Amino acid sequence: MRISSRIVAETFEELADFIRPGISTIAIDAKVEKFIRSKGAYPAFKGLYGFPASACISIDEEVVHGIPSKKRILAEGQFVSVDIGVRYKGYHGDAAFTFPVGAVDPLKRQLMKVTWESLMKGLEKARAGNRLQDVSAAIQTHAEAHGYGVVRELVGHGIGKELHEDPQVPNYGQPGRGPVLQEGVTLAIEPMINMGTPQVQTLPDGWTIVTADRKPSAHYEHTILIRSGEPEILTKHHLRP
Ligand code: MG
Repeated sequence: MRISSRIVAETFEELADFIRPGISTIAIDAKVEKFIRSKGAYPAFKGLYGFPASACISIDEEVVHGIPSKKRILAEGQFVSVDIGVRYKGYHGDAAFTFPVGAVDPLKRQLMKVTWESLMKGLEKARAGNRLQDVSAAIQTHAEAHGYGVVRELVGHGIGKELHEDPQVPNYGQPGRGPVLQEGVTLAIEPMINMGTPQVQTLPDGWTIVTADRKPSAHYEHTILIRSGEPEILTKHHLRP
């Protein structure tokens, strides 16, 4: 999982200079797939539940699960959430990052920053002996303190031999609830935070999740290893919103 997760992290670092106005989301997907395969690994989203591409690429009001398309061309001022999974020798890594496309307005900047901070607040609580919802509550508290909506329908997850394993890791909850976190457990923690309402809808393509009010949504995710102290961030990279 350290190797698969490092490949995920390196893929995001490759994308940082690639994502700019005029690029199609299918071009991003192609770059992701090529890079992952160049490492002898497999893009784990491809074919998972029937998903047709290697990366989920979601623009602005799209929360997650956007399908890459040659018709979707990034424009200055948008932001784009890219979610990538990698399988290497039977083990998975999973992460997401919302990138600005050129210059982004201050409201979107703030949403990106607070969503990233919410992930970091969650990670601070992700240690052996704490309860799962200590993580959830830390994410929710930080996001809602800024007036944002925390998506309920989609959650983080355990990860290992399967991309999605138990337990579910909600981005909302009550401190002191849920299973006690054990050293050695691997989780994908992934706040999806909306500028407006927490409500979401699925588009007619059956995949793309959008905010009900069509306001923007940001998404950051890391795969981590629970330890007695701070977690090991397996998908650690140098990008920041
Ligand atoms: Mg995930």
